[in-house]
Amino acid sequence: MEFKKCMRCGCFFMSDSDVCCNCESKDKMDIAKLNSILDKNNSFNSVQDLSIFSGININNLNRYIANKQLSNLDINL
Ligand SMILES: [Zn+2]
Repeated sequence: MEFKKCMRCGCFFMSDSDVCCNCESKDKMDIAKLNSILDKNNSFNSVQDLSIFSGININNLNRYIANKQLSNLDINL
């Protein structure tokens, strides 16, 4: 376990994940939303397009992509 700074809210916490326990549930909601969007439409041209469409912050989006949490994503990065 490492002492880390939460990538969503900036608070310090002890965990192996990127975000604190408060933000973990927000991450899960974002990912569920994104995966349901991508189920219907995975032809976004860029991460920015997906960010605008979903209303989800691009930094969070890039983090989910880096962690391979979006199953249907078909953007060439
Ligand atoms: Zn947090």
